[in-house]
Amino acid sequence: MTARRPPSGQPDLPLRDALRGRSPYGAPQVPARVRLNTNENSYPLPDGVVDAIAKGVHEVLRDLNRYPDRDALGLRGDLARYLGHDLTPAHVWAANGSNEVQQQLLQAFGGPGRTALGFTPGYSMHPLLAQATATGWGAGRRAGDFGLAAADAVAQVREHRPAVVFLCSPNNPTGTALPLDVVEAVAALAPGVVLVDEAYAEFARPGTPSALTLLPRYPNLIVSRTMSKAFALAGARVGYLAAHPAVVDALQLVRLPYHLSALTQAAARAALASAPDLLATVEAIKAERDRIVGTLRAAGLTVADSDANFVLFAVPPGSDQAVLWRALLDRGVLIRDLGLPGWLRVTAGTPEETDAFLTALLECIS
Ligand SMILES: *Cc1c(COP(=O)(O)O)cnc(C)c1O
Repeated sequence: MTARRPPSGQPDLPLRDALRGRSPYGAPQVPARVRLNTNENSYPLPDGVVDAIAKGVHEVLRDLNRYPDRDALGLRGDLARYLGHDLTPAHVWAANGSNEVQQQLLQAFGGPGRTALGFTPGYSMHPLLAQATATGWGAGRRAGDFGLAAADAVAQVREHRPAVVFLCSPNNPTGTALPLDVVEAVAALAPGVVLVDEAYAEFARPGTPSALTLLPRYPNLIVSRTMSKAFALAGARVGYLAAHPAVVDALQLVRLPYHLSALTQAAARAALASAPDLLATVEAIKAERDRIVGTLRAAGLTVADSDANFVLFAVPPGSDQAVLWRALLDRGVLIRDLGLPGWLRVTAGTPEETDAFLTALLECIS
């Protein structure tokens, strides 16, 4: 087949119709002095953990001539122990980031002729993963304050009959956790599987329960987590889920063989063995988050409650979020404009980063 060459000079490739004209996902990687746009953990790994990971990786280097443990059983056992709740390796599945875990979920339970339902505003990767797996997307609604009541969620599930429901708790980009009665009502009624994306669970305010507690009662319920945020391991690409072992069996049908490299498995296991050291920054980050919420509210801004390591705030009435985003960047502070009219999101990082953000913001809005 000869590719036609339109006047633009770009070859006219036989791309799937659903992908034509689309842009790849990604926060703009703009250089800035203070980067608070992708909810990374701002703290570098402590030296002791760096040494432990180096040692763990070193131990597998000689065996890189062999494929890795295809089932990643050692890592899944470590993750099950970290999660608790009587989970075993058979309940846990890991991949290169929770994005890959969620893609596998759609490959197994979504696909052509099926629909996934999410509640907007939510994590923008969820509809993109649906698109990439040829799964239809139902854009569900939240209330004006971004809340989602059980009765409302249930009505929307009835309307869409989704094969996959995406719940996100704490929700990105709004920051607030979902009450468990919402998760439970959806899991009890959904005709398919229900994923609760708990990427930010470790940052939740005290008393916020995890959907892990519901797993024994709902075999269609799946909870995903990541090492990218609280564990400060975004660069290693490790995400995982917990669910009924039958769900894990189903994912094995779609995963690539040896998808998780021996290097990744070794690094993740060493990091998990140092979990208390890695998670030591979580309380400090929560304190910065609460300081951002408090300071912005004291300045008269509307701010969503946050159980995560970021804060969603409304720009002052009459101002434009894109203009404020640019003004902050001009002062060296990069935050996130998600295209949500009137709102911006900022990651909570170190005290110095919070100071830089708050100083720049108060300057811009005064
Ligand atoms: C950051 C984030 C993730 C993490 O994705 P990884 O692929 O594990 O890095 C997952 N879900 C949500 C809602 C997130 O914000």
